[in-house]
Amino acid sequence: MTAIDAFDIVFFGGTGDLALRKLLPALYHQDQDGNLPAQGRIICLGRSPSDTAGYVEKAHAKAKEYLGSHYNENDWTKFASRIEYLKVDAHTEADFVALAETLNQFPGRERVFYLSTAPDFFAPIAKNLAAQGLNEGNSRVVLEKPLGHDLESSNKINDEVGEYFTEKQIYRIDHYLGKEPVLNLIALRFANTLLEPLWRREWIRDVQITVTEQVGVETRADFYDKTGALRDMVQNHLLQLLTIVAMEPPASIDADAVRDEKLKVLRALKPLSVDDVKTKVVRGQYRAGAVAGKPVIGYQDEPGVPAGSKAETFVALKAEIETWRWAGVPFFLRTGKRLSERLAQIVINFREAPTSIFGKNLGQPNRLVIELQPDESVRLYLLAKEPGNQTRLRQVYLDLDFKETFATRSPEAYERLLMDVIRGDLSLFVRRDEQQAAWRWVEPIIESWETSPEGPKTYTAGTWGPAASSALLSRDGLCWYEEA
Ligand code: NAP
Repeated sequence: MTAIDAFDIVFFGGTGDLALRKLLPALYHQDQDGNLPAQGRIICLGRSPSDTAGYVEKAHAKAKEYLGSHYNENDWTKFASRIEYLKVDAHTEADFVALAETLNQFPGRERVFYLSTAPDFFAPIAKNLAAQGLNEGNSRVVLEKPLGHDLESSNKINDEVGEYFTEKQIYRIDHYLGKEPVLNLIALRFANTLLEPLWRREWIRDVQITVTEQVGVETRADFYDKTGALRDMVQNHLLQLLTIVAMEPPASIDADAVRDEKLKVLRALKPLSVDDVKTKVVRGQYRAGAVAGKPVIGYQDEPGVPAGSKAETFVALKAEIETWRWAGVPFFLRTGKRLSERLAQIVINFREAPTSIFGKNLGQPNRLVIELQPDESVRLYLLAKEPGNQTRLRQVYLDLDFKETFATRSPEAYERLLMDVIRGDLSLFVRRDEQQAAWRWVEPIIESWETSPEGPKTYTAGTWGPAASSALLSRDGLCWYEEA
């Protein structure tokens, strides 16, 4: 781990939900754990002419709410002394002069500009930073999602930011990559010999990646209706998780070595034709139902949703990777809103034994289940004999429980990723060519939907999505994890 002496991190969108709810609490935790260098400022930006004291008061109230039992008055006071507030509008050059003056008080520091704003502001921010020479030296820029609406718009934003920052300075964040179980999966795969011989088509039957929510579109109908689940979740988070499962062992843990392998997976995804989209991709939209016992309205009745909207709130699809390791192994991806559970999970289903001396219908013998939320766990399921004088088999699991084993707090994804940016480690950030390859793969789905007279299939809120989602797997003689 690179030790650093001093840093300045600047949050554009410092008054926004993400900064107040995730980014500041993440840095607070790292400060509390003694991981932030003593010399380090957190400069939060917004457009209103507030002062630092006013901003810190607001940040304090939010942080207290989100930190819960981890909040400590003394730790907060120490942490808050790092915070400064500045009024900066993305389009106002003079505001950047003031920002430069503040930063140039300490010219040699690691400098991070975290763009936690809508992507429309990325280009003017990059340009205005460069005009003040703030893109030089140890400067890095973090780009939040969504980075564009399709390949063309994402290329445009990347080109515009790329005019002022080199690829090595650009950190495209996908917070799923900072989650502990994902990092543990990388360690499991590449630090142990046990799984590697089995991690291939001969032994793995199928892979299921699920990221579901119970919440609906909430107050974000305007954004969500133009975006939909495919762009919001599949193009980035789900495909990124797929690359971690499927990549070949990288030559080293070096950022580009890892990202080269992830890119190869994205490029090996079998392209989908219009006909494939009809049979291998399911799009759904929730109608009224009940989630966790409470009645909820349908998507069409949500405030701000245009009448007759065809936006998808659910996607399930079958992806195939055309490599020697993975040919013939389906990767099922699924995401959606207003579903039965809030869950993020990767399930690796191993093949059944070729023959059984214990009788038939023993069920799925072995699977590796990596849960990212709501709990974090890695479990390897095996069949074992129940105690007693009869030979009855039951599924049990080996639990790689980090909390039990390591007895330490499991850091939030943003903590790890923010520390990586401050240290200058790009391994867990998405390179531009990865992002392009992911857009290229999902574009035929978007085009096919846009030209189809059919809309999404409706599903009752509180279920696991449209029936077509189960049918997608049953055509291969398979079922989703919760249906087994
Ligand atoms: P938000 O609550 O709407 O905050 C938007 C921020 O942008 C505010 O701080 C606002 O500052 C600032 N802003 C607006 N116009 C500006 C301008 N002209 N110049 C400079 N700053 C300007 O949004 P958010 O939820 O924090 O999300 C920020 C970004 O992260 C979005 O791209 C979002 O898609 C992404 N994201 C958010 C989450 C999340 O959990 N919230 C998760 C993943 C990704 P003012 O105080 O001046 O209005």
